[in-house]
Amino acid sequence: MTATDPTTGSAGTSGLVAAGLRRSFPHPGGDVHVLRGIDVTVGAGELVTIAGRSGSGKSTLLALLSGFDTADAGSVRIAGAPVTADVPWQRCALLPQALGLLQELTAGENVALPLRLTRVPDSEVTATTTELLAALRLDGLADRYPPELSFGQQQRVALARALAPRPAVLVADEPTAHLDAGTAPAVLSLLRGHADDGGAVLVATHDDAVHAIADRRLELAGGAVSEAAGDTGGTVAEDATR
Ligand code: ADP
Ligand code: MG
Repeated sequence: MTATDPTTGSAGTSGLVAAGLRRSFPHPGGDVHVLRGIDVTVGAGELVTIAGRSGSGKSTLLALLSGFDTADAGSVRIAGAPVTADVPWQRCALLPQALGLLQELTAGENVALPLRLTRVPDSEVTATTTELLAALRLDGLADRYPPELSFGQQQRVALARALAPRPAVLVADEPTAHLDAGTAPAVLSLLRGHADDGGAVLVATHDDAVHAIADRRLELAGGAVSEAAGDTGGTVAEDATR
């Protein structure tokens, strides 16, 4: 299942490799050290979940991994190349916890946006957008604006937008947090399917249903990541050299 090389613990030439990530924020009482030296590897074809209490730093980590924020120290690489703020959606797409949909665009236009920005032909944009909206049970809602959708519907639009460019790395921040039992299976199926198609997928979640479809599960606590106990998918040892 995993493309990770068990002899080196690295994802080799594909997938996501982060090493030594540190991030702190200034607070009146002194700096808060949220991430204290994080190593994460997600191989192509792998779905990895990351759990951790609220405030443990999951969203902070995901923002670093996807180029939305810059670490104080450490590196993030995809297929060997550094991740920067302008990393294209085709290399790494983030589904943020706050979704980040453009309010002045319809659901369909939001999903199409990453394809339009890279000049994908119109026919392909339409086909991909229609297919993803249908897979996420959003048929008939393409022309609605985000405020005209429930939060759960908006969350699925944001997932469709992240998946549209078929990113090599997909980073999703609590993608099932606002879904009902009727729509969660479609989201799980697309996340798993993206990994099975060769994507590297990292999901921050509290949801056991997401952990159940993962190859490996990580825990974030005290600013450090560890491999969760009882995990059966683990052919990969987290690098313990930090
Ligand atoms: P989680 O996603 O696990 O709930 P977050 O990554 O959102 O956790 O937050 C981790 C910690 O970092 C929290 O204490 C939060 O207050 C702090 N934090 C996150 N972003 C910022 C920021 N931009 N400025 C200051 N503190 C922040
Ligand atoms: Mg969060």
